[in-house]
Amino acid sequence: MRILKIQTLRGPNYWSIQHHKLIIMRLDLEKLADISSNEIPGFYDGLLKTLPTLERHFCSPGYHGGFLVRVREGTMMGHIIEHIALELQSLAGMELGFGRTRETSTPGVYQVVFEYSNEEAGRYAGRAAVRLCQSIIDRGRYPQAELEQDVQDLQDFWREASLGPSTEAIIKEAEKRSIPWICLGTRFLIQLGYGIHQKRIQATMSDQTSILGVELACDKESTKRILADSGVPVPRGTVVNFFDELEDAIELVGSYPIVIKPLDGNHGRGITTDIRTWEEAEAAYDRARQISRSLIVERYYVGRDHRVLVIDGKFVAVAERVPAHVVGDGKSTIMELLEKTNQDPKRGDGHDNVLTKIELDHTSYKLIERQGYKDNSILPEGQVCYLRATANLSTGGIAIDRTDEIHPENVWLAQRIVKIIGLDIAGIDIVTTDIGRPLREVDGVVVEVNAAPGFRMHVAPSKGVSRNVAGAVLDMLFPRDKPFRVPIISITGTNGKTTTTRLLAHIFKHTNKVVGYTTTDGTYIGNYLVEAGDNTGPQSAQLILQDPTIEVAVLETARGGILRSGLAFAFANVGIILNVAADHLGLGDIDTIDQLAHLKSIVAESIFPDGYAVLNADDHRVAIMAEKTKANIAYFTMNSDSKLVRDHIQTGGVAAVYENGFVSILKGDWTHRIERVDNIPLTMGGKAPFMIANTLAASLAAFLQNVTIEEIRAGLKTFRASVSQTPGRMNLFNLGDYHALVDYAHNPAGYEALGAFVRNWTTGNRIGVIGGPGDRRDDNFIALGKLSAQIFDRVVIKEDDDNRGRPRGTASELIVQGICKVNPDCSYEVILDETQAINRALDAAPKGSLVVILPESVNRAIELIKVRGIVKEEILQH
Ligand code: ATP
Ligand code: ATP
Ligand code: MG
Ligand code: MG
Repeated sequence: MRILKIQTLRGPNYWSIQHHKLIIMRLDLEKLADISSNEIPGFYDGLLKTLPTLERHFCSPGYHGGFLVRVREGTMMGHIIEHIALELQSLAGMELGFGRTRETSTPGVYQVVFEYSNEEAGRYAGRAAVRLCQSIIDRGRYPQAELEQDVQDLQDFWREASLGPSTEAIIKEAEKRSIPWICLGTRFLIQLGYGIHQKRIQATMSDQTSILGVELACDKESTKRILADSGVPVPRGTVVNFFDELEDAIELVGSYPIVIKPLDGNHGRGITTDIRTWEEAEAAYDRARQISRSLIVERYYVGRDHRVLVIDGKFVAVAERVPAHVVGDGKSTIMELLEKTNQDPKRGDGHDNVLTKIELDHTSYKLIERQGYKDNSILPEGQVCYLRATANLSTGGIAIDRTDEIHPENVWLAQRIVKIIGLDIAGIDIVTTDIGRPLREVDGVVVEVNAAPGFRMHVAPSKGVSRNVAGAVLDMLFPRDKPFRVPIISITGTNGKTTTTRLLAHIFKHTNKVVGYTTTDGTYIGNYLVEAGDNTGPQSAQLILQDPTIEVAVLETARGGILRSGLAFAFANVGIILNVAADHLGLGDIDTIDQLAHLKSIVAESIFPDGYAVLNADDHRVAIMAEKTKANIAYFTMNSDSKLVRDHIQTGGVAAVYENGFVSILKGDWTHRIERVDNIPLTMGGKAPFMIANTLAASLAAFLQNVTIEEIRAGLKTFRASVSQTPGRMNLFNLGDYHALVDYAHNPAGYEALGAFVRNWTTGNRIGVIGGPGDRRDDNFIALGKLSAQIFDRVVIKEDDDNRGRPRGTASELIVQGICKVNPDCSYEVILDETQAINRALDAAPKGSLVVILPESVNRAIELIKVRGIVKEEILQH
């Protein structure tokens, strides 16, 4: 067995619209291709022994143990690897279920598809599954130690990528509200929403959190001072910078018991509470000094520790934090109890889990002693022994929800405190004997205010009700009725994507919105190029959606990107499917036109139910996508008699139709005539039917996004197939005696479309300079030849500089074959070098003729024309 390729999908994809996170492993089974699992001696037993938990997999039989039955009765190795990859991830704590395995057209090569929750873990699981399987085949077993290592490694990947419990809580809540989120390049910075409506969070700080508020909260002394000045009860205390000052400070706060803590610490680090002697004070001083230069010395207040969470000025929750402790059973020692407590699966390391494992530190032993025990004392039943002095969850404490018990005056006080400090999300630490009574009645104090408070204790308290505090954050960031998305219009099809994308972006500019768009030529925002290149995949789409200035996203969505990693978004508002024609077949395991149609239908299926699928009614493979999508349907057609479209309109549907020389939108009884094609330069005076089709699609999409007819019209009238607006798409140059046309058609459907225009050229000869990308199939080139013979009076055949692996001269030979099949008398010439071929055709162009150039490099072709002194770049008018 050999892994040929591993791909990672991150959005709606060829395999699933719902399951976005998939690994695709292209696997060559080699010798195992014709062997099924029951023919391998000892395989079933070996697998069962290694991974008995595979019992849980239902698989196609649909019952517990179903998959193992398949293995026993005989199934393909690819299928087994899919299940193992899922199971390994489950063992590491990532519960996943989706998988598929399919044969490719290459014998023995399979595509094994399975879900992941962490990318690296997913890829690792795939490789480990192959290793595990191979080992059982070769040796009948997989060493236990290796399996344990695999699971450990998978857990490590998962943990390293984990965003932390507070962020997870916010993301989960965002998903519940259909608010999209993106993990930005920098770790832990999360974007919520798209484009201009986006907000950002980092843990529990938002992009609205005031830096002044954060700095004030981090300085505990200043916080206390400003609160004290506002009449809020705070511990009596002072700051010391030198050891010499300690004694006076203790006196100043009213003597023992005292607390010493770093001025700007957190997570309870360096704090000693309940200090009762000078020796303890000295030791506490040293500990705090390790964290901070300046120290706080303050009175120790007896009471329980509470964390009050205030978001957007409103009290949200309060948790009592109880320091790490054990409860006696009358039999076990304190150490034994500690061990037992730490075995709780809810306890993890650091902030990974609901609770953290308890670790003893130097203060712990003193604390135990102070309570009258030693670490090996047997703790009487029901007795509590505290093991840590501070109540932080990160040192093993637990949390109890007290939200329903807080006194209204304390709520009022908490809300006032965050206003005074100036934070949008804050956690107030209060020490009081009873949170149900006003602080001033029970001598309770506010010990500090935290920016970026952890949510773990409120979301998953050890006791009491779990509070949806993340909901409060989202209510603040995205108040009801405030948008969090920008409209996404996704455009796919075999031909015309770039043109339609550009035209639609151009129309949207007439609404004065900032449009972000991606095309084969580059990524644009407004009128500016952000990045040149073939940007039709999810990364470029994400660049647009991430941009804080864009108000509309128009995304050319090509097959390559969908295949490679899926769509960049779960739902578009409008999805346009222009056409499906044979192109790129044989690449990326897409071998048939139906598979290609399925690939393009992903765009149709990834539209909001209240959005629109804009479908080409004249292309059967596109029109039937109406059955697949849950979105509303809108058709466009060149045929004003189309029955499909007529019926659609009669049942209340909307469509764009080319009728009586007009681009029109039909809705119910109304016909909105947008513009006569003669006035739409892109259609070359109506002579380029495929451009009319693109115009219909773009106009319809704009209409469905509530762009007015006037704005659409203005857009159509000012968009030209010029070198600047659509380089390489129907750029026509007047060279005085003759014309040259540069176009990017590169597959039979494109040639056919172009042919419809060229045939309309009646003033002279039609000369073609043609060729195609080398990675296409043989029959593609023959078809190009046949079409050329029908369209042109004379043909110059050339090849690309980059033959994409095809031996030089073979593509042109196939084209010649095609030409001769249709018209053996056709005048043709083979000049492999593109520059020479173009020059040759231009040199020999007779008066009144049209030289149609289908170049590999558009820029080079245009340069070759320009040096001849073009009279003008022109758009055909009627
Ligand atoms: P965290 O990051 O968890 O909020 P921290 O390092 O910022 O902790 P503080 O909040 O100042 O430290 O103190 C930690 C805990 O120590 C408090 O929650 C409280 O239980 C206790 N504590 C601090 N100061 C006093 C005090 N003056 N009297 C009584 N207990 C105190
Ligand atoms: P690519 O796959 O290279 O990104 P694309 O789908 O973006 O192509 P365009 O760049 O807009 O397509 O157009 C490329 C060529 O395809 C055009 O120059 C034209 O010859 C042809 N074409 C454009 N629109 C259509 C259409 N609706 N139907 C058929 N052919 C078309
Ligand atoms: Mg604190
Ligand atoms: Mg394109």
